[in-house]
Amino acid sequence: MSGLLHLKGVGPAKAKLFERLDIFSLSDLRHYYPRAYQDRRENAPNAGLNPASLTVFKGRVLRTQLVPARSVLIFKAFLTDGQNRQIECTWFKKRSFRAFRFDPFAALKKDFKINAEIWVIGRKENRNNFFDDKITVEEYYPAGEEAALHAGRITPIYALTEGLSNKALRQYIYESLQESEAKSEQDILPPSLAEKRGFISSAQALRAVHFPNSLSELENARARLAYEEFLLLATAWGVKRTQNRTALKGYTYEIKKNLLTPFRQNLGFEFTDSQKKVIKEIFADLQSPLPMNRLLQGDVGSGKTIVALSAMLLAAENGGQSTLMAPTEILAEQHYLTFQKTLKKLKVPVAVLTSSTKAPERKKILAALADGSVTIVVGTHALIQDDVKFKNLRLAVIDEQHRFGVKQRGKLKEKTARLDLLTMTATPIPRTLALAFYGDLSVSTLTQLPPGRQPIFTQTADEYRANHIVAEEVQKGRQAYIVYPLIEESENISAKAVSEEFEKLKQVFPHFKLAMLHGQMSRTEKESVMKDFAAHKTDILVATPVIEVGIDVPNATVMVIQNAERFGLASLHQLRGRVGRGEHASQCVLVAGHQGSVAKERLRIICQTCDGFKIGERDMQLRGPGEILGTRQSGDLEFKAGDFFKDRNILQWAIEDRDELLKEDPLLQKPEHAAFKERLLELYQKNWKLIDLS
Ligand code: ADP
Ligand code: MG
Repeated sequence: MSGLLHLKGVGPAKAKLFERLDIFSLSDLRHYYPRAYQDRRENAPNAGLNPASLTVFKGRVLRTQLVPARSVLIFKAFLTDGQNRQIECTWFKKRSFRAFRFDPFAALKKDFKINAEIWVIGRKENRNNFFDDKITVEEYYPAGEEAALHAGRITPIYALTEGLSNKALRQYIYESLQESEAKSEQDILPPSLAEKRGFISSAQALRAVHFPNSLSELENARARLAYEEFLLLATAWGVKRTQNRTALKGYTYEIKKNLLTPFRQNLGFEFTDSQKKVIKEIFADLQSPLPMNRLLQGDVGSGKTIVALSAMLLAAENGGQSTLMAPTEILAEQHYLTFQKTLKKLKVPVAVLTSSTKAPERKKILAALADGSVTIVVGTHALIQDDVKFKNLRLAVIDEQHRFGVKQRGKLKEKTARLDLLTMTATPIPRTLALAFYGDLSVSTLTQLPPGRQPIFTQTADEYRANHIVAEEVQKGRQAYIVYPLIEESENISAKAVSEEFEKLKQVFPHFKLAMLHGQMSRTEKESVMKDFAAHKTDILVATPVIEVGIDVPNATVMVIQNAERFGLASLHQLRGRVGRGEHASQCVLVAGHQGSVAKERLRIICQTCDGFKIGERDMQLRGPGEILGTRQSGDLEFKAGDFFKDRNILQWAIEDRDELLKEDPLLQKPEHAAFKERLLELYQKNWKLIDLS
């Protein structure tokens, strides 16, 4: 209970109340963050008489009145808010014989002297009558120094316990912040990180989180405190991770550039800065003696493929084989075509392996993988069959990893335990973030799209209008996708539905060349349809969502999504990402049937933003935390200032900085990390036995 008893008005009894809130010291009290805030600034949007919400104003007392009634006593005060309105505040007291000699309104009378200035917080009595200026007072404070904690500001609201009011807590916390100990409370953040992220000091942040002077100050304070929390826990897990990780991969890489340089020169474009940064991170992992386990996340179209290819070429320069595994055959084929084009010039042999690879062909490829004559192999989960053996496999890349089932991921993990592993996704999900946080996973993020990309204009429209837009674009020489949903998860039925629609669409567009693509077609059929579309031999591709991932045809500028209400947000975003890949302005047209409120909200969101990370966030909110938190271990994700979901950017910073910190100083032995280490041990060694930094 150290320190608490120093506070004015706190004796052993009050201290017991604090204990109920887990507050045992002045420091605990300072770290007892508000659960919410009320905007009680004088000019706040809800200041004045607002029927819908809280009323906050500073008034001057005009007159007061005692109204006797049969069973109650009524005290009225009439105040002017300085804007020609006279506001009537009312208090009721039951008549009580016991209190006969006691004036129940003594305190009010003392405070509400004529001309006294008073802050009033209350609610309008009659919400429906605009002209009726009567309010029920919830709190009032005579203007002055003390009032400044409770009114005329963004006011903290705390989780309470009986006997401790908001008013009291504000007072005590304010006092605890005045203690000299508070002002000298050490910043535990390593100075280099605090500076890098531009954070305010810890003392400033603590003051501002309780008594912010502005919303932006509050946001800065919260960010800083959230970051500190995240960084502490992330570091605890990071230390554990290094201690767990002992398996060495047993080979080293050297950056020779005999393949990388010509690769870069032949690309026909420059890497974006973001790609350069990410490639650096990956190469650093590859050169480390420990196996890489890195997630590369980047929005649809951000150019993840050539990042992966760069890593695969580094492996090739060092005589290693690598694989790229995609969730669908179509995507595998597509990657194969791109790789073939790029790698032919570099004389790097590449093959493709899927479940529809014919037996003789398959046998040949397996032999080539086993004797090392194929360096890079692209494929689907056919790549992880037991009879697929490599001479010298070093790097496995998994594209669109979120599309793989849990089982496949498990199998993959088994197969790649001592390999360098790079997984890629356009829809970062909290699970992967959690992995980055807790597990043996590092994260790189592409934050930039290649230059010249335009936002994809997205709208809802009826079928007629959608077809009209398609026709317009095709007449301009562009191409279009029309996508139908999977029906009851069955490719079979969906294929049939698409075939029917395909026949109808041929009537709608008699002068254009249409092609169809669905999961039931043979590999060669699919391949030739894709090739023809890429070569602009066809104008309109009618498809199931098999084209959702990865397809890359820059001349395609319209994506029509039929029954858009049946798609999830992530799918809509992925599908839309098939257009807008070239120089032409592109658009996405959503044709929706009957929608529930959630579906409506999804469509609204997708029309509003093209930012995949934002969409991911909204997706989580729409699906609710239940689904996401379902598998977490209880307590792990409870933060006081931070929110694992809302503060994902800050979380990302913490993960990055944790990695940097531990790389520089694995046991936190440098003097500038002493305070941080002390707090870390205090938090996580005693209770969790999580870390050992001796
Ligand atoms: P995704 O991240 O969705 O997998 P891709 O790797 O398919 O994206 O890249 C999308 C397109 O952008 C491809 O056509 C690719 O060639 C092109 N691209 C990638 N990086 C760049 C760049 N730095 N400049 C220009 N175009 C690029
Ligand atoms: Mg891709």
